[in-house]
Amino acid sequence: MENKILGLHHITAIAGNAKRNLDFYTRILGQRLVKKTVNFDDPKTYHFYFGNEGGEPGTLLTFFPWEGINPGRNGAGMATHIAYSVPQGALEFWKNRLKAFNIDYKEGNILGEKMISFQDPDGLELEFVEPKKPDNRKVWTTEEISSDFATKGFYTTTLTLNNADATSKVLTELLGYQLQQEDGNRYRFATEAIETANLIDILEDPTAERGINSAGTNHHIAFRVKNDDVLMEFREKILSAGLNITPKIDRDYFYSLYFREPGGVLFEIATDNPGFTIDEPLEELGNSLKLPQQYEPARTQIESLLPDLN
Ligand code: ZN
Repeated sequence: MENKILGLHHITAIAGNAKRNLDFYTRILGQRLVKKTVNFDDPKTYHFYFGNEGGEPGTLLTFFPWEGINPGRNGAGMATHIAYSVPQGALEFWKNRLKAFNIDYKEGNILGEKMISFQDPDGLELEFVEPKKPDNRKVWTTEEISSDFATKGFYTTTLTLNNADATSKVLTELLGYQLQQEDGNRYRFATEAIETANLIDILEDPTAERGINSAGTNHHIAFRVKNDDVLMEFREKILSAGLNITPKIDRDYFYSLYFREPGGVLFEIATDNPGFTIDEPLEELGNSLKLPQQYEPARTQIESLLPDLN
């Protein structure tokens, strides 16, 4: 198990307004802000991490809110839908809650499981699913959202592709996933290396237009590995399959590699170590602005350039 891909680590998306993004995910969806930092390449932009209590891999949705950026377009070559798992019976609560905030939703089911779908304020496609298999992950609760209803973390993510073949091969031959279910043009892949956040869906649509990566779309999805040694084993494996991959990058809270899979989706592999408690205790996660070392001397200036969150 230890040298395998352990499902999803995080998903990173783009938003158009920091305050609106923060309010939606923390207040309406009840996520915990587990880290408030900046884009390491553009420190006047926030980088928010939302997750469960401990900010565990498999629960982390992260955003670059670029103020006033144009809306993107979901399409081929992208992760187009993010599905969270919610407790059995929780969908009623969520329908009422979304109604109360005037958020439209659709009811449906995917591969026999009940779900609702809706969009965040930038148009990012979200799905809440009641999986048949119990999900025992620890949740983050708020005054309005108890553990009976709180999201558990990722269930699956859907990649929309013009052709599924090459991407399926990456999932099965390089990343340890197996085709688990098929329905029409939906293919569900699963890894047995972990119990949760262990699914990837492919929606094959030969006529889908290419997506445009901007506000309301996903930038990349990150797969999880235990540590740097495993990360570098995967680097070798991906290189020997003839794909380009970056060197190891230090993201302060994890180490990463990025590669674009042949269907066009940007994949990352990220480590469990060192994790989000490296620079603040569990109880205080997300409370204060954390800067990478190289920006610490410019803290006052950066704070004055970042958008107002109040
Ligand atoms: Zn990432």
